[in-house]
Amino acid sequence: MKNEYKTKSRNLIIEYLKAHSDERFTARDIVEALSKDEASVNRSTIYRNLERLSQEGKLVRYKETDVAATCYQFSEGHEACHTHMHAQCEECGKIFHLKNDVFKSASKKLQSEYGLEIDYGKTVIMGICDDCKKKK
Ligand SMILES: [Zn+2]
Ligand SMILES: [Zn+2]
Repeated sequence: MKNEYKTKSRNLIIEYLKAHSDERFTARDIVEALSKDEASVNRSTIYRNLERLSQEGKLVRYKETDVAATCYQFSEGHEACHTHMHAQCEECGKIFHLKNDVFKSASKKLQSEYGLEIDYGKTVIMGICDDCKKKK
C-alpha cells in the first residue's frame, strides 16, 4: 500500500512535468498544481520525489536569478542530466544539454587548479540563444 502510493506520486509528478516539458517549475508550483488535483499528493512527498528524480537525472535542477527558488524541468530524451553540463538562455529559458566534451577540459581544470568538482545536476551556464539574439 505504501509503495503503491509512492509510485503513484512519482508518476503524477513525472506526468505533470512531461506535459509541460518546455516550462520551468519551482517545487512550489508543482506542489500547488498537484494539490489541486483530487489525487492530492502531499508536500513532503513531492519534495522528496523531486530530489530523487533530479539525482536520477530525470529532471534538470537549476537556480534562476529572477526566482528565489530552485527550478525544475523535465529532461525529455536526456535521461542522464546529472552527468552533463547545462546551459540556459536568459531570455526565453531554453535549456541546452551540453555534450560532455564541450566541458571536459574546463571541468578537469577546475578539479586540478581549484580542487572543485562540478555538480552537473545543479550547475547551469547562463547565456543568450541564437533566436533571442536575432530578436534584438
Ligand atoms: Zn541534460
Ligand atoms: Zn533564447
